[in-house]
Amino acid sequence: MLTKLSQSCLVCKQTTDTSICHYCIDDLSLFDVERYQHNLMLAPKVALGLTKVNFNQVLALADYQWPLSKLLTGLKFSKQIPNAYGLASLFVKRCLTSMPELPQLVIPMPLHNNRYLFRKFNQSIELARQICKLSDLPMDTSIIRRCKSTSAQTNLSAAQRRKNLRQAFSINETAHKRLKNIDHIALFDDVITTGSTMNSAYCNLRKHCPHLKVDVWSICLTLVH
Ligand SMILES: [Zn+2]
Repeated sequence: MLTKLSQSCLVCKQTTDTSICHYCIDDLSLFDVERYQHNLMLAPKVALGLTKVNFNQVLALADYQWPLSKLLTGLKFSKQIPNAYGLASLFVKRCLTSMPELPQLVIPMPLHNNRYLFRKFNQSIELARQICKLSDLPMDTSIIRRCKSTSAQTNLSAAQRRKNLRQAFSINETAHKRLKNIDHIALFDDVITTGSTMNSAYCNLRKHCPHLKVDVWSICLTLVH
């Protein structure tokens, strides 16, 4: 983790030389990713919550819990960019540095254009940007497009919701040529709950590029309790 002098911890506000102080990091309950060979699908408590997905690899920092939840909502709704740096540093340190083989490209999950134009901010892009900067990986935001707004999902039946999600993403035909010489990428989202949105992007990408190994990364997973 890069060090800066005299800043205050994002969680407890005490003076520290890192974004999140050592006391707060020690208090976090993080996944033991090395125990599961960097694939939390091998952890029963994670697999139980992701039964309806096609991807069989997932890597995340922790269960969706305070104070990570507070840092994520602060980034999403108040555009607190230092939170992206703090969370990305922790993700790189805990999840990526010990990984035997990193992907060649990271693709953050896009927001629907209308929502992006309204908010002009995508927290997944901000987090992926910091992760890529810290681990020297390229990021691409042009290959996957969100073509259907899924904001009204709650009023739909389960079948309608699945159909809606199947059509939620499109692959940019020009940009996806970039993937021809690449065989391993990571799809990134800030939080994975049921995994259905991530799964839709994953399936779409695999349909266009069957040769691709696609890892799924997120800061937090919402576990079944
Ligand atoms: Zn602290």
